[in-house]
Amino acid sequence: MATGKINVSVENIFPLIKKFLYSDHEIFLRELISNATDATLKLKHLASIGDAKVDYKDPRIEVIVDKEAKQIRIIDEGVGMTQDEVKKYINEVAFSGAEEFLDKYKDAAKDAGIIGHFGLGFYSAFMVAEKVEILTKSYKDEPGAHWSCDGSPKFTLKAIDRDTRGTEIVLHIAEDSLEFLEEAKIGDLLRKYNKFMPIPIKFGTKTETLPKPEGAKEEDPAPTQEVDNIINNPNPAWTKKPTDLEIEDYKGFYRELYPMQFEEPLFNIHLNVDYPFNLTGILYFPRMTNDLSAQKDRIQLYQNQVFVTDNVEGIVPEFLTMLRGVIDSPDIPLNVSRSYLQADGAVKKISSYITRKVADKLTSLFKENREDFEAKWNDIKIVIEYGMLSEEKFFEKADKFTLYPSVDGSYYTFEELTEKIKDNQTDKDEKMVILYASNKEEQHSYIEAAKTKGYEVLLLDSPIVSHLMQKLETSKEKISFARVDADHLDNLIKKEDTQISKLSDEEKEKLKTTLEEVIQDKGYTVQLEAMDSAASPFIITEPEFMRRMKEMQQTGGGGGMFGMGGMPEMYNLIVNTNHELVGEILNTKTAKKRERLISQSLDLARLSKGLLKGEALTNFIKRSYDMVK
Ligand code: ADP
Ligand code: MG
Repeated sequence: MATGKINVSVENIFPLIKKFLYSDHEIFLRELISNATDATLKLKHLASIGDAKVDYKDPRIEVIVDKEAKQIRIIDEGVGMTQDEVKKYINEVAFSGAEEFLDKYKDAAKDAGIIGHFGLGFYSAFMVAEKVEILTKSYKDEPGAHWSCDGSPKFTLKAIDRDTRGTEIVLHIAEDSLEFLEEAKIGDLLRKYNKFMPIPIKFGTKTETLPKPEGAKEEDPAPTQEVDNIINNPNPAWTKKPTDLEIEDYKGFYRELYPMQFEEPLFNIHLNVDYPFNLTGILYFPRMTNDLSAQKDRIQLYQNQVFVTDNVEGIVPEFLTMLRGVIDSPDIPLNVSRSYLQADGAVKKISSYITRKVADKLTSLFKENREDFEAKWNDIKIVIEYGMLSEEKFFEKADKFTLYPSVDGSYYTFEELTEKIKDNQTDKDEKMVILYASNKEEQHSYIEAAKTKGYEVLLLDSPIVSHLMQKLETSKEKISFARVDADHLDNLIKKEDTQISKLSDEEKEKLKTTLEEVIQDKGYTVQLEAMDSAASPFIITEPEFMRRMKEMQQTGGGGGMFGMGGMPEMYNLIVNTNHELVGEILNTKTAKKRERLISQSLDLARLSKGLLKGEALTNFIKRSYDMVK
């Protein structure tokens, strides 16, 4: 028997391991199962090239929780280790690895990100165990070995009799980590970190129901049997070739990833690249809601089928963190901080590859089945709009398939849209004015008015669309967006109908003064317009610029530009000088009646714009009843 001291300069490194990686204690299990998996795959490789004369069969890894003995045991059927190998790999190499790790990250230990994932390997066992034993037998013809260490830098190592090839790690769980002796807890951890590891992992047994034998009675219970409970799927969909998978397989894998999710994904993107970096994965477009933050952190990052994290920030472009699915890459450096990750060249390439792949997939979906693409548009638009705003490369591609739905349910690409409106919707500066509504119900009367004039009205209702409009206005020539109830509309109206006002200049002057006297509210700017006599007498519009700035402040971006926020409410009151009612206002003899006509008309206009609320609405209704009785 050999005893010795682990070659280490830090007197007692184990308490340090515990302290620095406090929040990540649970990763010990993933590390030990990764080692067991590596050892098994190594044996598979050696057997396949004829270097190991062994019966490989179907090796497994078994995890046993023994609450009474306060032990967790992890048993594999892999290559095992000889005494010399234990000395070398556990005492020397592994430990110097741990030492180096701590040295490097002592100061950065608070950077909670990815630090703590990988790097400590075998020694992470001491995060939960007060004593660790290794019982192992190499596939080579050599005696077994027993290593034991109680958390001080001292260990013992001796030869033992052992027939079964492979390694058994015995963890004597420390008093402050007894929660890991709960089967449910270990089951959860196995499902979290090891769900798709390539070697089957057995954890306990489960009861399986068998078919009833021939001639069994209705009331006879079905026979059952105890079978091994395998916790993982060693061959997840992303490790297969896209050509070997049907749409149903992709849907099935989605359910495997998100068992609590009942909605089906809209479509998937299979990622598969091996040069200049390695990356596989499947991304899904789920049905999106308008709550952007709720959809994050659903993409899982794996490294060779070992779960690493579900926070892929920095690896996947921000706008794609709303997607779901899996990315597996051995080329993503994991034991580094987030800021380092974002600056890493390989990671940047990965990020732009994913962006391109998503754009290409969307392009082909659009081209292959436009009808289906249109049907899904509402559910995916927010990701696309977000992408267009944040990634220039994506903008260039997406510009060709981004859809602009009309209030009547037609879908146009930008090119189709401008082709359609170019003759009919230009303002006095020869700018094309793209009219849109954000809410069909609230802006109903404005939409109708615009449609009567033959204008095309879009329905743009996503929360970040105002940012996108801003972007389009700056990157395209001579276009501007105007909501149907915005002031830009006035330009269009003026150009469209060259109506002559029925009122003389003198009458106009008088009308304006009267209106301004009655309407004390400084938020309204009175504007007289000669319009078709069938158009409304009073119309309220809101400056497009002001309203959009307000919206943009609410959804971030553009924010802060105008300091304190809290911009004043400002409206234009357009008064149609050719309307009969306006003539009546002008000609009414009594001041009282004139005042009533004006207030009532203004309230109707406000009602139409959804601005009439509270006391003003109550008074309006009361006044209206008085008038009809
Ligand atoms: P890493 O896995 O990154 O090499 P670890 O600290 O996890 O670092 O493990 C150190 C070494 O110990 C491994 O490289 C391997 O040689 C050996 N080892 C650990 N666990 C096993 C095992 N279950 N079977 C065989 N060898 C193992
Ligand atoms: Mg390891």
